Amino acid sequence: MAHRLIACEHCDYLHVEEDIPTGSVACCVRCGLPLYSSEQNRFDKPLAFAITALLLFAIANIYPVLTFGMEGRVETNTLGSGVLTFWQEGFPFLAFMVAVTSIVAPLLLIVAHIYVLMPIWMGAKWPGMQQIWRVLSVVRPWSMLDVFLIGLLVALTKLTDFAQVIAGPAFFAICCLIPTILLMNVTLDARAVWRRIAPSSLKYPDQDDLKVLSDDVDGAEARKHGFLSCHTCAMVVTENPSGHTRCPRCGDAVHQRKARSLSRAWALLVAAVILYVPANVFPIMTVTYLGRSEADTILSGVATLAAAGEWPIAIVVFTASILVPIIKIVLLGWVYLATYLGLPGPLRERTFIYRVTELVGRWSMVDVFMVSILAALVKLGNIASVHPGFGAVAFCGVVILTMLSAMAFDPRLIWDRAGMRSSEPKPDTGFARDQMDRQGTPS
Ligand SMILES: [Zn+2]
Ligand SMILES: [Zn+2]
Repeated sequence: MAHRLIACEHCDYLHVEEDIPTGSVACCVRCGLPLYSSEQNRFDKPLAFAITALLLFAIANIYPVLTFGMEGRVETNTLGSGVLTFWQEGFPFLAFMVAVTSIVAPLLLIVAHIYVLMPIWMGAKWPGMQQIWRVLSVVRPWSMLDVFLIGLLVALTKLTDFAQVIAGPAFFAICCLIPTILLMNVTLDARAVWRRIAPSSLKYPDQDDLKVLSDDVDGAEARKHGFLSCHTCAMVVTENPSGHTRCPRCGDAVHQRKARSLSRAWALLVAAVILYVPANVFPIMTVTYLGRSEADTILSGVATLAAAGEWPIAIVVFTASILVPIIKIVLLGWVYLATYLGLPGPLRERTFIYRVTELVGRWSMVDVFMVSILAALVKLGNIASVHPGFGAVAFCGVVILTMLSAMAFDPRLIWDRAGMRSSEPKPDTGFARDQMDRQGTPS
């Protein structure tokens, strides 16, 4: 393998890419987060999983998910029923978000994998492969079928107490779809895909380019060597002196750091904090059962589950809907503040905390999915019916805003602002390569 340069997306530290043993992961010497895993050059397995996922996705959309029977009346719902119900009940924002996260994004994810992997596997080139693979990096975080499944299980638990509920073919298709998509992602090396679809004449900056540039710099950050790291495909690109650098591999504009990152991240987080109040005060749904109507807030929903003895589900909902949003807001706020003030301290831990909050935030959508399923299924008027409430809109807003806030933040600012401290590794002539070899941890 050519000794290509690779920059850590979390701290911008430059490394020289090396072959590492199969199944192992190379970690960044500075922040400790995973840099890349051993190269997998097989595309048949992820392609097979992607095609299987498409078939399962079709079943999940055509057949009923749940069949609900009560007082001699029967209602069924499909994956899209929740979207339609939210729309009919006057909640277009919720309809849009549920449509995007449970249908549109997963479908795009699967189809894009097939469109890009099929020609690679056949040794062909199809038009627009780079553009499609680029769009995928935007779509990926919004595909939430795994969270939808948890919402489905919570809805099922709530319903089985007072009605007959039967899981339909789509329910089992969704259960199989989640591990299939997971396997598709695990067996695929996104770096290898980028290399296959890149122009064959593309020149990657390598160790030799570094020697020319490394004389008058004291840091090992990519930008200090005149390199930028592409946010989309992670290619290290030589900075254009005019200020407008485009990635030669994926075509995206490349910047040293995300523009106005900290102020955008703050603004979105503050908006999330404000929305958090109505999200907990207003009911997320109103449940009518045998003529009596009761409004459920997020907290009272958890209390109801606990009172019914459904402890495991109550703990899941409490964690996803109450603990995760609060902890995420507090931790992100702390990371942003420490970054703004340029506080010294455990920068590795700060970067790790940011990474974790970025990954777990989506799980809070459980309650929104649960409301979409219950509202679509329980439509027996005064006997039993569920109507969404404004709390669900506000809560969905909190989840989206905190996700957007974490996406807007550039974790490399944590390191920029705190400055190069004496405790951090200093680059030497062997650069980061020797240290990285020792850090390669088997997974
Ligand atoms: Zn790093
Ligand atoms: Zn790129």
